[in-house]
Amino acid sequence: MIGRLGQAATTALSALAFVAASGPALSQSPPAATTVIRAARILDGRGATLTNAEVVVTDGKIVRVGARTAVPAGARLIDLGARTVLPGLIDAHSHLTWYFNRQGRYHTARDGDTPVQSMLAAAANAAATLNAGFTTVESPGSPEDKDLREWIETQGLPGPRVVTSLNSISRGSPDTLRQLVRQRKEQGADLIKLFASASIRDGGTQTLTDEQIAAVCSEARSQGLRVMVHAHSKESVMAVARAKCTEITHGVFADQESLDLMAANGVYFQPQCSLVFSNYLDNRAKYDGIGNYNAEGFAAMERALPLAAEVIRKALATPNLKLTYGTDAVAGAHGRNAEDMICRVQKSGETPMHVIVSATSVNAEAMGLGNRIGSIAAGYEADIIALDGDPVADITNVRRVSFVMKGGKVVRNDGTAQTASIR
Ligand SMILES: [Zn+2]
Repeated sequence: MIGRLGQAATTALSALAFVAASGPALSQSPPAATTVIRAARILDGRGATLTNAEVVVTDGKIVRVGARTAVPAGARLIDLGARTVLPGLIDAHSHLTWYFNRQGRYHTARDGDTPVQSMLAAAANAAATLNAGFTTVESPGSPEDKDLREWIETQGLPGPRVVTSLNSISRGSPDTLRQLVRQRKEQGADLIKLFASASIRDGGTQTLTDEQIAAVCSEARSQGLRVMVHAHSKESVMAVARAKCTEITHGVFADQESLDLMAANGVYFQPQCSLVFSNYLDNRAKYDGIGNYNAEGFAAMERALPLAAEVIRKALATPNLKLTYGTDAVAGAHGRNAEDMICRVQKSGETPMHVIVSATSVNAEAMGLGNRIGSIAAGYEADIIALDGDPVADITNVRRVSFVMKGGKVVRNDGTAQTASIR
């Protein structure tokens, strides 16, 4: 993925060189090589707040953050006034390919939609996600992510940077599992997604032996791949933590002992607070009757809501445990990816700054991209968003995204005052 990000930057540079060489087009719409972004406050994604500062962006990268100075000749000034700037948000768990079909039902392989129609739906989800301020998502996962990732990266499709596991892994002998890890790597996966427990709708009990889990996580480690493991029950969480897999997603039934083991073994914890459950419950008619989306399944999700808030509360109080931010956004949830930030503050007592850092620099670090995205700092990709209002004072301001820049390109700016003046 790092290689690909670098490649995208190189492509952008050579595209600029091509435009410059081709002559006339340049004078009609001069590409502002340097953009200066000013706002009342800038949250750097690592816990610091700068006031009345500016971010300078050149060729898609942040080159300076700090006190305001004279705007360089020819640079574009984007003055965001009273707004709050922060790094593009990262959702470490989003299923962009999940959608509701035109009959208002959750799309399945047999509903008659063509692969093209499914891809268009995924493209719409990607655009909604980007507009909501999420400039990177991690998808665990679907084979279609590969094309989505490439079209967003190189073909101008609007969407967040996509990091994907491609197909998930859920069964096989230890040897087969090791083989599957190597196969995913060859197929272009950025990480491995492993199911070590059943769905919460089926009780969440452990589905792989400790030996199978260890086989996947040790093979991935030797292949330089991270592993995100789906685990709900305490036993499955303990097994995954013992195997030192990279990250545990869900963990609704994790207790203090298992949280402590995650912390001791440096395993990131990615809990969901409410969006995934409330989205299913709010859209019950669209899912009902498909697979384990039945009365029992919906009841299990209703029960999970308070448990999830409580396990996050415990996790926050667990020394050295790092919490990432992943909503498990499915059909109906795309574009509402910031809702768990609000839930984590309101239901689990997390501070707004802590959850913002979780959804930016901690997520980037957990994804192995900590030196490229997730921070507003010199040398980082210019993934920059702005909110109308201060999220530290009121976390619900994360719903008020009004500016999105990805890789130095403005994809959304709802503001009216003093924007985009060329000096
Ligand atoms: Zn998921």
